[in-house]
Amino acid sequence: MTRSPAPGGAHPRGTDPGDDLRPFRSVRAWVFDLDNTLYPLSSNLYAQIEDRIRAFIATRLGVGAEEAAHLQVDFHIRYGATLRGLMIEHGVSPDEFLSFVHDVDHSVVAPDPALAAVIPRLPGRRYILTNGSRVHAERVLKRVGIEAPFDGIFDIVWAKHTAKPLAAVYEQLVAETGATGDEVAIFEDLARNLAVPRQLGMTTVMVLPPGTRPLFYGRWDLESGADREADFLTEDLAGFLQAVLATLETP
Ligand SMILES: [Mg+2]
Repeated sequence: MTRSPAPGGAHPRGTDPGDDLRPFRSVRAWVFDLDNTLYPLSSNLYAQIEDRIRAFIATRLGVGAEEAAHLQVDFHIRYGATLRGLMIEHGVSPDEFLSFVHDVDHSVVAPDPALAAVIPRLPGRRYILTNGSRVHAERVLKRVGIEAPFDGIFDIVWAKHTAKPLAAVYEQLVAETGATGDEVAIFEDLARNLAVPRQLGMTTVMVLPPGTRPLFYGRWDLESGADREADFLTEDLAGFLQAVLATLETP
């Protein structure tokens, strides 16, 4: 299986004609990030959550809006999730944080019939892996119309309040699913959350907002970092999964 783009100009694979989707033939566990992966960035649901995170920090730590925004990014970079930073440095209760930041208007997420049709057809087990809470995930899945097909939701409580991209989270994932690394496919909107999965032999797919894929090609070797982490790129998750299924069904 080719995992890296060839040097000298070849671009990573997506659902272009001729793409080799056969690595998915060994997959028994399909793992999906939640936010901005199973629903579009353009819904602005995650923007609502980020507003709530900054509001929580401002109130809890008694800082202004600007400092709260700085701390949010700082915690996120240093700990993988803002919550982890708040727990370690400020003793914040995870339940208090999670219920506050996920108290948003989930109705902005539209049903996705194409995704709802294709995910149940994936052979094997299907999971959610999110740095958010289970309650938030369940609300999102209900809106998208894909509650039923998942065998498990691995949330930040399941991860013992560690968070992607820490290796421990993915190692726990592999242990829990009973699948070896090369039997796992993982779908994510953040390249950095695909680095460890790729090292563990998982097939990695980066889900991009519609219309942005050419930008990644243009900047591929310069700054995205995604060339190191993603085996595949797609800006149409349902279409990508349909193409994967077609490959799996071809002898
Ligand atoms: Mg995400």
